[in-house]
This record gives sequence, C-alpha cells and structure tokens, in this order.
Amino acid sequence: GCSNNGGGTETITPGTAPGFQPFEFQDGSELVGFDIDLTAAVFEEMDGYELADWETFEFGSLIQALTSDRIDFIAAAMTINDGRDETIDFSDPYYSANQSIIVRADGSFSPSELGDLSGRPVGAQSGTTGEETIQDELIANGELEESNYTSYDNYVLAVEDLENGNIDAIVIDEPVGDTFANQRPVEVAFIYETNEQYGFGMRTDDDDLTTAVNEGLQTVRDDGTYEDLTAEWFGS
Ligand code: GLN
Repeated sequence: GCSNNGGGTETITPGTAPGFQPFEFQDGSELVGFDIDLTAAVFEEMDGYELADWETFEFGSLIQALTSDRIDFIAAAMTINDGRDETIDFSDPYYSANQSIIVRADGSFSPSELGDLSGRPVGAQSGTTGEETIQDELIANGELEESNYTSYDNYVLAVEDLENGNIDAIVIDEPVGDTFANQRPVEVAFIYETNEQYGFGMRTDDDDLTTAVNEGLQTVRDDGTYEDLTAEWFGS
C-alpha cells in the first residue's frame, strides 16, 4: 500500500496485466508499453509522489489487488464503466478504443457482425469489456450458448486457442487485436463500436492521488508528451 517515507513523498505501487501489446507487455525481462510510459510521464509531473516497481497480475485480479492494498494504482487499458466505478475511482479518460473481432487469417471463417458468431466457439479475457460484449450482446439474447464461450486468464492464451482451432473468434480491444494481427496468423474480421474510455484506477479513498494524477495527465497532454507517446506506440 501507500507509504510515506517521512520526507513528504508518498510511494505508489503501480499494477498492470502484461500481454496486452502495445499498452503493457514483456520485452524480454522488461515491462514496456504505452501505459508504462504514460504512467512514468504523469508521475514525473506529480510533486510528492514516487513510483515503486510495477506489480503484475492477470487482468481479472487487478481491482482486487487495488482494493486489498497490494497495489495503489492500475494502468491496464482499463475501461471506465459503471460496474467498476462502484468499487474504484478512475482518472480522467486517457485513451479511447472500440472492440475488434479477430479470427484465423486462413479465411475459414469471416464474420462481419456480432450475430455471425452465433453457434461458434468464441473467447475473451476474463473480466474484460470484450467478455461483457459476448455476455450482453450474444449470450443474454440467446444468440450464443453459454457453453460456446471460453473465458481465458489472458488474451495470449485465447489467441493460441484461436490459432489451434479450439475457438473461432475472439473479442478484444481494437489496438491489441491489431497488434496480434500484425504478429500472429490472425486477422481483424470487423470492428464493434463501443467507444470505451480508458482510465487509471485508484482506491476511492485516495482522492488526493486521483487529483494529482489528473493534473499530471493534463500537463503531459498540454506539453506534447502525450502526443509523442501515442506516436511512439501507435504510430499516429
Ligand atoms: N479495455 C478492456 C477492459 O477494460 C480490456 C482491458 C485489458 O484486457 N487489459 O475490460
């Protein structure tokens, strides 16, 4: 949890879920990505706070890690939504994304809308808005049987199962779907527009931290650092 070293500096332990390129992933032994760099840039602007080393978890365990004080800050391409908002506080939005539906690149299955996934084995990462899309838009209305859905601890495992033919499609945040499509024998079949906004997550009683993070975020937007980082990690 937060600790004060007596000099008025609070040490914040950040947490993330690697395997989500370009936001957070392992490059050899190094944890890298847009979220990692943006967090460093924001904290650079914040007086009275310093970052400890990153802790890593499966995405579905991050909120619990935060509320149980194992970490103090989440940077994990986490979408700001009502369900999570009840448990944690979010910073101002720092990135927006849609969902993409990825399939094998061999042309064996080419869906063009969610309804085309009906009756097909599909997957997503546990606790994500991709999973929520499958639950809310397909299973809830009977277009997909619950048994056709596989929830994975992380998207890397889901993509392996897609390549192996164990599932036929994955619902995943578009920038990450694009990255898998560049690196693996999979492709983006279509985009499902959700206009999700990512935010950094903090405990609800850490108001001072949330305020400082928002100010830091505004500064890096204003001084061009944010733009440099998006150019570096998204090439735009
Ligand atoms: N943006 C999605 C969500 O918040 C996926 C995040 C992730 O898998 N790291 O659920």
